[in-house]
Amino acid sequence: MIVLGIETSCDETAAAVVHRDAEGRGTILSDVVWSQIEAHAAFGGVVPEIAARAHVEALDRIIGTAMAEAGVGFRDLSGIAATAGPGLVGGLLVGLTTAKAIAAASGKPLLAVNHLAAHALTPRLVGELAFPYLMFLVSGGHTQILLVRDVGHYERWGTTIDDALGEAFDKTAKLLGLAYPGGPEVEKAARQGDAKRFDLPRPLIDRPSLDFSFAGLKTAVRLAAKGVAPLTDQDVADICAAFQGAVADVVRKKLTAALKRFSEEFPGWPIGFAAAGGVASNGVLRAVLTEVAEAAGARFLALPPKLCTDNGAMIAWAGAERLSRGESDSLDFAARARWPLDESASPMVGSGR
Ligand code: ATP
Ligand code: MG
Ligand code: FE
Repeated sequence: MIVLGIETSCDETAAAVVHRDAEGRGTILSDVVWSQIEAHAAFGGVVPEIAARAHVEALDRIIGTAMAEAGVGFRDLSGIAATAGPGLVGGLLVGLTTAKAIAAASGKPLLAVNHLAAHALTPRLVGELAFPYLMFLVSGGHTQILLVRDVGHYERWGTTIDDALGEAFDKTAKLLGLAYPGGPEVEKAARQGDAKRFDLPRPLIDRPSLDFSFAGLKTAVRLAAKGVAPLTDQDVADICAAFQGAVADVVRKKLTAALKRFSEEFPGWPIGFAAAGGVASNGVLRAVLTEVAEAAGARFLALPPKLCTDNGAMIAWAGAERLSRGESDSLDFAARARWPLDESASPMVGSGR
């Protein structure tokens, strides 16, 4: 089956066409992402009004390009998928309404996709990964350890109790005078830094829960910066290295515990493990995830960076996974700014945490 996917939940206007064969293998036929980063950079973050307008202006063209690059027409599609939440409601409305219009005009089914579910299912688009598997979802808005039981069945094992990790990277960058988005800037600066010069906290590292907290780390960064101001490039590099080192320690500890829990709940089962979200493109974190997976006898499926950040292929793929199970949504499906992943799970899946 061939599915068009539309993503407009935040600051990327994206559309992609994905093919899923009868065996469940995926192929990306096109994947067009137009980032609005420049439109928001001056504000140091995403401005919802600007984002919604930019989606309106760009989406038709992006979809046209995605269809042309894939070499398909609307009649070739098996379904049209769009992010219906969670995200900024103005952007969601633009993408979902466009998808509904295409679905109505072409008579093809609509798939209203949960953005987080799409991140969680993306590893199956690029590699062989059987359910259940463990997913580390780390982006600007989310930091979650998920058990992916099946399409539509997600159990949250851990989450952040305050800031998302990407947000912590972005705020750290802002405090240090680095550009937005901060993640890649912090990673770059950290390469020249000495991680030992500043001693930053490792929040919640000794707690048994799989939850994270990054607000305190950000405050510690602010105090460290204040202590040595005015900042030289070396100060910035050292603080970035210390920040990334602290984050790496926390991630190592929590994901090791999560992999252990997985092996206890599914004894003898091969441990599949993947990560997605913009922060999962961080080289230091990828090395940590590879290391903990190896130690646990798990296989870490690393996504290419382009599939870590928001994109249309993941939405198309999530739509294809659902469509292949006979699912689709009605044309009056409403966009949802908030849409927790485990809410859509069936009661047998458990409470989630
Ligand atoms: P959502 O949380 O809804 O999925 P988002 O747009 O915030 O949305 P992504 O586009 O997946 O999420 O990721 C963006 C985040 O990833 C930003 O916070 C950015 O700083 C961070 N990021 C990107 N590259 C890196 C990197 N190399 N190291 C650390 N963080 C990074
Ligand atoms: Mg984004
Ligand atoms: Fe995302």
